[in-house]
Amino acid sequence: MSIQTLNTWVDVPEGSDFSIYNLPYGIFSTNGDQPRAGVAIGTQILDLNYLQENDLLTSVDLHEGIFKKEVLNDFMALGKPVWSSLRKRLLELLDETDEELKPHAEKAFVKQSIAKMHLPVKVGDYTDFYSSEEHATNVGIMFRGKDNALMPNWKHIPVGYHGRSSSIIVSGEPFHRPQGQILPKDADRPVFGPTNLLDIELEMAFITGGATKLGETVSTENAEDYIFGMVLFNDWSARDIQKWEYVPLGPFLGKSFASSISPWIVTMDVLQYFKVDGPKQNPEVLPYLNFEGKKSYDINLEVYLKPQGGEEQKICSSNHKYLYWNMAQQLAHQTVNGCNINAGDMYGSGTISGKEPDSYGSLLELTWAGNNPIQLNDGSERKFLKDHDTIVIKGYCENDEIRIGFGEVRTEILPAKQ
Ligand code: CA
Repeated sequence: MSIQTLNTWVDVPEGSDFSIYNLPYGIFSTNGDQPRAGVAIGTQILDLNYLQENDLLTSVDLHEGIFKKEVLNDFMALGKPVWSSLRKRLLELLDETDEELKPHAEKAFVKQSIAKMHLPVKVGDYTDFYSSEEHATNVGIMFRGKDNALMPNWKHIPVGYHGRSSSIIVSGEPFHRPQGQILPKDADRPVFGPTNLLDIELEMAFITGGATKLGETVSTENAEDYIFGMVLFNDWSARDIQKWEYVPLGPFLGKSFASSISPWIVTMDVLQYFKVDGPKQNPEVLPYLNFEGKKSYDINLEVYLKPQGGEEQKICSSNHKYLYWNMAQQLAHQTVNGCNINAGDMYGSGTISGKEPDSYGSLLELTWAGNNPIQLNDGSERKFLKDHDTIVIKGYCENDEIRIGFGEVRTEILPAKQ
């Protein structure tokens, strides 16, 4: 898809994630004042509430005060035509020929460096899919051996489970190492204590804007009309707690203690420029999971580990396009039984691993269950995460014409609470 060239009067540093094409939404505050909605551009935030209060958004069908809120849910619920008309209006105001916004520049923009970013949505429901064939295969090999790596259902169902939404946190917010029941090696009774196998899961999440009524379904054809945008997602895991608890009902406390997201929601309006074909699906899927056209997205993903007092070191490079099941199939599957969705619901992709060992999206795979520790530049090594380690996930899309990015999700691990 060819892209119309955009030029803005706002200063955007070369290589910025937040180019004029991007305009991702977030919730920010300054000096502890009212959290409100903004879009990121270059090193600044354009204050949407300021724009509305100063009659710069009257051409868009918005109710009063919609951006003077702690979350974006009400705006997202207005639906795709409103999202698109606001984007069009913002592009007018930021265009190099603009004379309307320029006189307001001093008050309409806030430096990202002095803003505090908040969780941008109230997440009602959170689904965690398991859609990377490479990840599911790697974990299957470790747990069940090579011959039974993929379960018989895996290529027929976008496997998922319902996760915990109350513990979704935003970049910059640390969490304490979780504690729970662990079965020591060769023991027949569990002990209670801090997890020894704290892991990352490199994922992305999409957030629905539109809602459906109970009993309605969403097809793969119109699924993307319900998706507002995407964020980076680190779905932390305590592998030892998980291993002891997961039979027969699946993940529980080994997963529910925290999941971290990046603060800026990148919209499908810009991600459409990075659509690509996904992996070929074989065997053929059931009709409700069939789709036409490109439904995968070329999003480069990187994971960095920073030990306490040390430097950030890249430990993984992956890509969203490796996922076997695409978001349209995930949403069609989620709703095929008549389950309703709401604005602000979040859907994790599942750990995104590629074919190469340096593209594996978890420490479980990168170290092959701790057998091949990662060597860090400070001389230490990691099988799993230590207290005060910081994990940073970054994501960006790039082609010959434009570059956009997701910023980052950065999280420090604090020691277990005493
Ligand atoms: Ca997950």
